[in-house]
Parts: sequence; C-alpha cells; structure tokens
Amino acid sequence: MKSLPYFCRGEVIRGFGRGSKELGIPTANFPDSVVDNLPADIGTGIYYGWACVGNGDVYKMVMSIGWNPYYKNIKKSMETHVIHTFKEDFYGEILSVVMVGYIRPERSYSSLEALIAAINNDIEEAKAQLELPEPLKLRDDNFFTSAPSPSAALTPSSPSTSQTILNGH
Ligand code: ADP
Ligand code: MG
Repeated sequence: MKSLPYFCRGEVIRGFGRGSKELGIPTANFPDSVVDNLPADIGTGIYYGWACVGNGDVYKMVMSIGWNPYYKNIKKSMETHVIHTFKEDFYGEILSVVMVGYIRPERSYSSLEALIAAINNDIEEAKAQLELPEPLKLRDDNFFTSAPSPSAALTPSSPSTSQTILNGH
C-alpha cells in the first residue's frame, strides 16, 4: 500500500453507539472530512499504527476502516481503538494518528465471542509489529509533537488543522 505510513488528524465525534465500549474495545470515530481524504489505495480492513489524543502521549492503536451504515454503506468510516486505558472519554478532542500497516480485511463473525477474539488478535499483532525498528521510529515523528490544542482547532477564526490532511508534513 503505497500511501502508508499515512498521517491524519481530526476531532473525535460520536459514533453509532454500537456499544464497542461495552465490549471493552471503544473506538474513536473521525468525521467525514478526514474519511473523505483517505487515499484510494487505503481500502477497508484493519490497520495498526500510533495515536495521540490532544497533546498527550503516543500509544499504539488498531483502526478499522469499514463501510458506514449511516450512509447506506457508500461511505467509509474510520474507527480507532487506542491501546491504552483512559480515565475519561475524549469526544471533541483532536486525535492524531499514523496508520503504519495493514493487518487483515474486514470479516463478519458468527458470534460476539469470535469478534472479540479477532480484535484481541489484532491488538496483539499491532503491539508486536510496532516494536519493529521502522514502525517504532514513527512514534517519535514531529507530527505528534505538533498536535494542535483542541481550542485552537475548534476556533472558527483559525484554519482548522483538524480537517487538513497532513501527509507529507
Ligand atoms: P461511539 O459509538 O460514540 O464511537 P464507543 O463505544 O465506540 O462509542 O466509544 C468510543 C469513545 O470512547 C471514544 O470517542 C472516546 O471518547 C472513548 N474512549 C475511551 N477510551 C478509548 C480508547 N482506548 N480508544 C478509543 N476510544 C476511547
Ligand atoms: Mg466507536
């Protein structure tokens, strides 16, 4: 996939309330503006990479790119599970991510247990892949230290970095 690694950021919006959190795997959703900017070669499936909320620490993540039921499955959605336990939700904050690699295509599961097991496998895969030298380097990329504060990004008078694709920064 020639577009990887792929850097982007945006405000965390509410998802469809499909109860990911109840499964122990909350997924932070990006707005359409971020999803619409995805390069064509980044298809649906599960990806791994690095993520940071606001100006916080950089953590490993897994991301699902899927078809968005809200738009009758003609638009994609991007949902990021940050591999970290946060004290609070972070709706409205700026989530910065770098997608580093691809794990697998989307699949449907016969049971909730099978789905959870698959996601846990993805998380283990992500953790291992991100320890390799090239992926590890991206954790320290300037992209993460230049993350805008939520207030700056949400102020109408300042150009919204949250809606800008920052690849090739
Ligand atoms: P929604 O349908 O609104 O996306 P989820 O059940 O998927 O609801 O929960 C996602 C929300 O949980 C995120 O928007 C974020 O505010 C919060 N959250 C807390 N911990 C995490 C985490 N480790 N990774 C992703 N989101 C998290
Ligand atoms: Mg979600």
